[in-house]
Amino acid sequence: MLESIGGPLELITDPSLESKYGIGVYFTCRKGGASEGIHGTLNLSFDVNDERGAVAFNRKTVSDAVGIPVSNWTLCRQVHGCRVHVVEQFDIGRGAHDHESGIPRTDGLISGLSGTLVGVLTADCIPVIFVAGRKRVCAAVHAGWRGVLAGVLPEAFKKIRMRSGEDAGGIDIYIGPHIRACCFEVGKELGGLFEDSIGEEAVDRCYGNVDHVDLESAIIVQMKRMGVSNGNIHMAKQCTSCGDDYFSHRRDRGMTGRQAGLAVIQ
Ligand SMILES: [Zn+2]
Repeated sequence: MLESIGGPLELITDPSLESKYGIGVYFTCRKGGASEGIHGTLNLSFDVNDERGAVAFNRKTVSDAVGIPVSNWTLCRQVHGCRVHVVEQFDIGRGAHDHESGIPRTDGLISGLSGTLVGVLTADCIPVIFVAGRKRVCAAVHAGWRGVLAGVLPEAFKKIRMRSGEDAGGIDIYIGPHIRACCFEVGKELGGLFEDSIGEEAVDRCYGNVDHVDLESAIIVQMKRMGVSNGNIHMAKQCTSCGDDYFSHRRDRGMTGRQAGLAVIQ
């Protein structure tokens, strides 16, 4: 189960996973970093015109908290697509100290390598972490509405099953902070697209005559179709656009930083 832990960073994590398998799932918020202004304070992206030194400091702060040096992180250059990459030894460190070296055109990373971290950066999109605990294999996936419709999560699920040899019942899924139905009003066309391709659960219609897409419900529908049961799906239940705790692309009109969803294999 996901819970918030205090300290300067306020990470959302699942402590039982750590003690059982030596695996960490972490979602960051805005608190505890050195960035200023629209990036204040814990922006983790080198690709949003923040000061390089501040982002490096922020990543180091997170790395100290989760116990994996930044040089052992692997990140990708996300494009709202559905390519999922299996991290090999020679990939470790890509995207760790800059944006450019990240795994290109990729929205999901899978790793079974001890002492490493895979992560995705978001501001409203959903960071989703998959954990095959017994096999010590993890995935970090970036899924916005485009990625959800494109099927990045079923793709990641298939790939982590293949890489780990684990069956559906042995994989836990962690859905991090994202823009929830309360704040995700969309046009009728996009609402209709979600309803047609995923189901009526994907659109919340209790806001009068406007459609609100419910990305979390959409993901749950997709995961259940892959054989996942409710007990294996864990949700942070935090909206990035409500309040000020998270970076929100929509609320801040694109001028904002990025939080992270991270999977750590100790
Ligand atoms: Zn909201």
